[in-house]
Amino acid sequence: MSILVCDVGTSGVRAAVVRPDATVEHVHHREVLPSSPAPGLVEFDPVRMADATLEVARAALAAAGRVEAVGITNQRASTVVWDRTTGRPVGPGIGWQDLRTVGTCLVLREQGLQFAPNTSATKAQALLDEADPDRSRDLCIGTVDSWIAWQLSQGALHVTDPTNAALTGLRTGDGTAWHDQALEALRIDPASLPAVVDSTGLAGAATALDGSPPIAGIAGDQQASLVGQGCLRPGMAKITFGTGGMLDVCVGAERPRFATRGEGGCFPVVAWSRNGRFTWGVEAVMLSAGSNVEWLRDDLGVIDSVEASAEVAARCDDTGGVAYVPALLGLGSPIWDYGARGALLGVTRGSGRAQIVRAVLEGVAHRGADLVEAAEADSGTAIPTLRIDGGMSANETFVQALADASGRPVEVAPVREATTLGAAFLAGLAIGTWRDEDEVASLFRPSAVVEPERRLDRERWADAVRRARAWYPELSALDF
Ligand code: ADP
Repeated sequence: MSILVCDVGTSGVRAAVVRPDATVEHVHHREVLPSSPAPGLVEFDPVRMADATLEVARAALAAAGRVEAVGITNQRASTVVWDRTTGRPVGPGIGWQDLRTVGTCLVLREQGLQFAPNTSATKAQALLDEADPDRSRDLCIGTVDSWIAWQLSQGALHVTDPTNAALTGLRTGDGTAWHDQALEALRIDPASLPAVVDSTGLAGAATALDGSPPIAGIAGDQQASLVGQGCLRPGMAKITFGTGGMLDVCVGAERPRFATRGEGGCFPVVAWSRNGRFTWGVEAVMLSAGSNVEWLRDDLGVIDSVEASAEVAARCDDTGGVAYVPALLGLGSPIWDYGARGALLGVTRGSGRAQIVRAVLEGVAHRGADLVEAAEADSGTAIPTLRIDGGMSANETFVQALADASGRPVEVAPVREATTLGAAFLAGLAIGTWRDEDEVASLFRPSAVVEPERRLDRERWADAVRRARAWYPELSALDF
C-alpha cells in the first residue's frame, strides 16, 4: 500500500512515492521560488505552485504505478485567498516570511489582540482588504495545504488539518474552534475558512490524479519531519537544520500550559491529530543555521562549498578561543532578540581559516543546544536524545559539535526526506499501511548515532550571546 506525497516547500515542490517498508522512490522536484517585490514582502504565485505540484505528482505516479493514498505537507502559515466559484486566486500568495502586517499586528496588540506577523491571520486580512474590502464576495481562505487539497480534489475539498490551522493565529488556544473575537477583529467570515480534518484520516478523493486516491494525511512541514523521524512519544525531539533551524518535541495528549509563547521562548504546536485527538508539541526556533555556512562560502569565500566546511573545520581541534554567534537575523528561542547580530569574538593574529569555520559550526551547534534546553524548560519534558535532518545534518564536524554542545547522542535521519516520510506515515496510518504510532516509530533507523566526546563550554557561550545582544536596541524592543 504505497503513498504519494506532495511536499509544497518554500523554494520548490516535490512529489515522491513511499513504500510500506518506508523507502522513498520516484522523487520529482520543481523549483518554485517566492519573489520579493519590495523589502520585507514575500509573495508566490499560487497557480504556478499548484501547476508544479500537479506536474510532479503526476510524474511520480506515472513512474510508480498505483498508490493507495496521498499525503500533503507544506510550508506553514503562507496564505492564499481564492474565489470559490472560479477557483482563481484573488491576489498573490503571501509567504510566511512576509513582514507587511507587522504594523497591523502592533496596532491590534494595543487593542488587546495578539497576532504574530508570521501567522496567516493578518496575511489573510491583507488579501481580503485588497480584493474584497466590503466583504461581499464568496472567497476561500487557506494555507498552502488547503490550496493544494483544493487543486487535487478539483475544487471539492476546502480543508486543512490542526497542525496548519493552529498556525493561522485564528484558532482558540485549545485548537478546537475558530476564535470568534479574532475573526470579528479582522472581518473574516467563518464560512470562508476551511473545514478542519484530522492530520491522519480520509479527507476526500484526489480526483485530479489517476485512480483518484484519497487524501489521507496533511501536516505542516516541521510536524511531518517530527513524525518522519519517528518522534511519536513524549520527549522525542528533532531539529531540522536548513537555512534556519526548528526544534520540535513531542509532548503528548496534554496541551502545553502556555497559549502563545512560553518562558523559554518556545511555542505550543499541534504535532498531529488522529480520531479527533490531538498530540501536542513544543517548538523552538533558530532564525539562521545553514545560512551562516552560505555566508562563509559566498561572502567570505573561505570555503569552496558548504560541504567543505566539515573538512576545513576538522583541520583544528578547537577554535583557539574564537566564538561565533550566528545571529544574522537576530536570535530566536529562548531570548527572542531581533536586534542581536552575528558576532565573531576572541579573534587573534593566530586565528586562521580553520578556527573561524569551526567557530561558525560550533556556534550553530550551541544554538541547537540552546533550543534543546529551551524546549525542555517549556515542555517540562526531558529530551535525552536528539534526531536531526536538513542540509547541515550531512556535516560530520557539525554533528559532533552538536553532540558535544548538547551533551546528548545525536541520531542523524537516514534520508533527506524526513518530511516526505512523515506525510506518508500520516496518510498510511489512515488507510492501514501501518497499524499505529508505535509501528511508525519503529521504522526509524538512523544513518549515524554520534555520542558526545567532550563538553563544549556553555558558560563561555552564554557570555558570547550576551555580547551579541541588542546591537540594534530599537529592534530588540520588538516583542513578537
Ligand atoms: P531549506 O529547506 O531551508 O532550503 P535544506 O535542508 O535544503 O534547507 O538545507 C540547506 C542549508 O543547509 C543551506 O543553508 C546550506 O548552507 C546548508 N548545508 C547544506 N549542506 C551542508 C553541509 N554539508 N555542511 C554545512 N551546511 C550545509
